[in-house]
This record gives sequence, C-alpha cells and structure tokens, in this order.
Amino acid sequence: MERLQKIIAASGITSRRKAEELIVQGRVKVDGQVITQLGYQARKGATIEVDGKQINKENKVYYVMNKPKNTLCTLHDEHGRPTVLDYIRVEQRIFTVGRLDFDTTGVLVLTNDGEFANEIIHPRSHLEKTYEVSFNGILTGEQLKQLERGIELEDGMTLPAKVAVINKNIEKGSMLLELTIQEGRNRQVKRMIEYFGFEVKRLNRKRLGNLMVNDLKPGQVRLLKPFEVKQLR
Ligand code: URA
Repeated sequence: MERLQKIIAASGITSRRKAEELIVQGRVKVDGQVITQLGYQARKGATIEVDGKQINKENKVYYVMNKPKNTLCTLHDEHGRPTVLDYIRVEQRIFTVGRLDFDTTGVLVLTNDGEFANEIIHPRSHLEKTYEVSFNGILTGEQLKQLERGIELEDGMTLPAKVAVINKNIEKGSMLLELTIQEGRNRQVKRMIEYFGFEVKRLNRKRLGNLMVNDLKPGQVRLLKPFEVKQLR
C-alpha cells in the first residue's frame, strides 16, 4: 500500500503538491473509482488514472545478461539451484526470452514484455543465433556440409545453418565450431552434434541477432538501448 499522491508524483507527471490538488479536485480514479481523500492508500498493482489516463502502466524493460554456467533460466527452482534471477535485481517481474541450458553461457535477454518475447521465440522470427560449440570429435568436410544443409532430428529437419571451424585439434580429437542457426528448438545445438555421435563439452551463445555480451562478465547485466530492442524484433 502506498499513498496515492506519492504514486502519482513518482510516475513523473507532476509534483506531490500538485498531485494532492488533482486528488481533491476529483480528477484521480483508483480502479475506476474517483478518490478525493488525501491520505488514501492504494494497493500495489491498482490501476490509477488522472483525467482518464492511466499513469502507472508497468514500464517495459529489456536487459542483456552474460549468462553464467550452471544457472537455470526458470524463475524459481524447487531444488534450490541458482537461477539467472539471482544475478539481477529489478522491481519489474522479468523472465528470460527463450532458454539456454543449465551449462550454456552467453547472450541472454530478459524482459517483462511478453509480446516482445513471443515475437523473438516464434519459429517464424528466424532470428540468427550464433553459438561457439566445442566437442570431443572431429567432423569431416562432408559432415560439416551436412550440418549446413540441415540434418534430420527427431523433431524434423533443421533449417540451413552457417558453420565455421574455429579450431581443430587432431591430437586431442576435438573441435571448436561457430554455428549459426535460425531456430531455437530445445537442446538444438547439442542434438545437432550428438547426431554425429559426439558430445558437447562447452556451449556459448555469442550472438543473438546483432546482440553480443561485449564486455559483460559472466553474471553481469545491462539495459538494452531502444535501438537494440528494435533490431531484435
Ligand atoms: N542449443 C543447445 O543445445 N543448448 C542451448 O542452451 C542453446 C542451444
């Protein structure tokens, strides 16, 4: 509960003194009812209107995090494992846009804008995601081409992907690829590598559209700039 004049002033439309005048003049409604009483305490989440315009719509917020290893993208875990929300304190009720696995690191967007999140994760979006993936095996030239063309997973063919070999360690029998996919199916990159009988050792999302973590350390977050939000849509 909070005093009505304080909420109105905090919304930035006017000072606390002017807000009191608005209340007394009968220009303020709480949940559709005109309130003229100055000490009125409004409940959290109440709809507050001044001259018929809602003033306290929840602001939409957009963050990018460098997701640390061993964190969940769910908001709460009944086994008490760390979640990405342990790394960010904001008033708004935010959630992740899509999910990265517990052991995957890298670019993760968080928001309270459900419409925006749905647009991005919709299969139609085809927003490119670039992953650095290392695994215990060496793919042949033909297998790399197969990855690019698309492979048959149990939930259907993958769309064409871009593949770049970053490192091939013949002695260790391991490889590091940069793999750019247009989809976001569950465990997709891991399953694409498992298709060839190899096991992913490390998976990092380097890029989501144009968005990168740049100098964010694991667990650090920053607000997205409006142009970055636009570019993702
Ligand atoms: N593909 C995976 O296999 N895991 C992720 O976390 C992201 C993409």
